[in-house]
Amino acid sequence: MKKYLAPLFMLIIFEAVAITLWLTKDNIFYLFNFSYIGLSISLGIFLFIKKYKHARRIVQLLVGLYMLMYLGLICNENMQIEGFWYYLFTGVFEAATIHYAVAKIFGPLLFGRGWCGYACWTAMVLDFLPYKSPSQPRKKLGWIRYITFTVSLVFVASLFLAKVGNIERIMFWAFIVGNLAYYAVGIALAFAFKDNRAFCKYICPITVFLKPMSYFSVLRIKCDKDKCISCGKCKRVCPMNVDVTDNSRKRKNGTECILCMECVRNCPKDAL
Ligand code: SF4
Ligand code: SF4
Ligand code: SF4
Repeated sequence: MKKYLAPLFMLIIFEAVAITLWLTKDNIFYLFNFSYIGLSISLGIFLFIKKYKHARRIVQLLVGLYMLMYLGLICNENMQIEGFWYYLFTGVFEAATIHYAVAKIFGPLLFGRGWCGYACWTAMVLDFLPYKSPSQPRKKLGWIRYITFTVSLVFVASLFLAKVGNIERIMFWAFIVGNLAYYAVGIALAFAFKDNRAFCKYICPITVFLKPMSYFSVLRIKCDKDKCISCGKCKRVCPMNVDVTDNSRKRKNGTECILCMECVRNCPKDAL
């Protein structure tokens, strides 16, 4: 029964967040929202323990579609980085700011870039593309993420500085246009570089938060050196080019790990 503690632990964490936010914000939405996400993730971990091949994809679809369709399109919450800046500037600690705090800023201290592997609606689509593990060496294009990060900040700040009216409506359209642009660029890059996750590696502005925070992540894939036969399969199947056989925090591309478990599933010696 010990192995089932992981999904239970995850469910308890999310329930704790759900109940805390429900009571402190006096808004039952948080109870449903975080309970749903916690249940979806716990289901995924359970299915993974049961060795179900598509466990991660199921969570990705359950959480990603919920956030994109329900929170984004129906509730008009801009959950992109522009929405985070918007709510930060207005001083409102609501859905987008809470979402960023939990999933992308402080959460990664605990569960690394689990967001990228199990919840992001951009990667949810990109992961359907044919290039699951990169066939070419990684490009030195990671600096682009700082440009997209700065552009998003300047865009929202200038709306405030120019005292533009009805910014909330602009944020809704920015969410639609931003997502379409992400999908278009992400799909084009995936085909150009033969790498589904090229967008994540070079363009995504959110990685400016995710990478440094996930460096300290409690949850990490570790290698049992006594079992490892250095076959290199884990590195070949890794979509993010992580050197998972190195247990140090400075492992190559360590802050890129999205906890997708492909390396674990493919290791012939159960060393991971
Ligand atoms: S890097 Fe960005 S686009 Fe890729 S999964 Fe993470 S948040 Fe989504
Ligand atoms: S796949 Fe397993 S055995 Fe092979 S190098 Fe990686 S950890 Fe070692
Ligand atoms: S294959 Fe392993 S090292 Fe690579 S991203 Fe997935 S979990 Fe991390």
